[in-house]
Amino acid sequence: MTDLIHLPDLTAAELIDFVQSLGAPAYRGRQIFTALHARRTGDFDGITELPKAFRQQLSSRAATRSLTVEQRYISADGTRRLLLKTHDNLPVETVFIPEERRDTICFSSQSGCPLKCDFCLTAKLGLLRTLTAGEIVEQIIISLNDAYGEGVETPRGTNLVAMGAGEPMLAFDSLMKALSIMADPKGLHIVPNRVTVSTAGIVPRIYELAQIPDRPHLAISLSAPNDELRNVLMPINKRWSIAELMQACKAFEQSLKRGERFTFEYVMLDGVNDGDEHARELAALLKRHNLRAKVNLIPHNAAEGLAYLPSTPERVAAFKGILESHNIAAYVRRPRGQDIYAACGQLAAKRASNPLALTNIVARSASTQPSLASPSSIV
Ligand code: SF4
Repeated sequence: MTDLIHLPDLTAAELIDFVQSLGAPAYRGRQIFTALHARRTGDFDGITELPKAFRQQLSSRAATRSLTVEQRYISADGTRRLLLKTHDNLPVETVFIPEERRDTICFSSQSGCPLKCDFCLTAKLGLLRTLTAGEIVEQIIISLNDAYGEGVETPRGTNLVAMGAGEPMLAFDSLMKALSIMADPKGLHIVPNRVTVSTAGIVPRIYELAQIPDRPHLAISLSAPNDELRNVLMPINKRWSIAELMQACKAFEQSLKRGERFTFEYVMLDGVNDGDEHARELAALLKRHNLRAKVNLIPHNAAEGLAYLPSTPERVAAFKGILESHNIAAYVRRPRGQDIYAACGQLAAKRASNPLALTNIVARSASTQPSLASPSSIV
């Protein structure tokens, strides 16, 4: 695989260059791009418009897939969680959530994660590797095929959220390239306006994202109203404080389009960050910065190996009420796929009965791989 060109990693223009380097005309590149992305074809034999000899030539130089499906869990509510494996044996997770109007796919940007959010199971893996653009695109293709079948037109539109494993702002280049490949009208045609990127607060990237004209929406995982508590729950806060984060959000606000708002994600942890005083402090913080924002309250998903319990529904409701009494829009995220451990922060769970098994599998496979560099010098 490593010597083969991974075709989902190429833009249409790059694919044309590639086929021309093999002596084929440009239109063959366009045919391949459409087959891979619009029809979600998984092998060269499925691209029947290509001459057989060219398909053979291609298969000796390039690959249509680099991820393989290891496990599939289907929830009673229709949520589908895929455990995928990269060509170098690292875990990647993708969750497909069917909804009435649009489907949502929650994808990973890294295998593992270098950030150490205390309430997150993925954090226990550490960073294994940042994913390539092609590996991000392929998660969406595989996920749609898993739900609907290869080549079957999807009945609804698709929203994407970069909220799976990893910190997407530390996979910035891969993510931006993947978004441009997926936006191509001749391919998946999922435009950035249908994509939300959730960050734990990589401040320089927030400024950078604001400069991109056709950018995705931004969500900030906050989960604490003050530095003291956030330093514990999300240690990235020691690098960039809440004040610096808010300053970046204020600058980003200039780029918000009409009707667009920030989303602040707040994971509700029983007896830790869910008190009335926390709600009042959060309201005061958001008011002080006067941001066009809403707050998503996310009931924590307890898992073996994590020290926190979810807030009670009554506590979540009381917290929401306090925010609303300060004119802050607050919503409670409906949990999906809980029976298959598909929820936020649980994506390292290999099997529902043994969530930490993956940690061990990964530790073993990582020790056989070359050491992996940090994805960015930012942290
Ligand atoms: S919550 Fe997100 S950013 Fe934090 S450790 Fe988990 S995957 Fe990484």
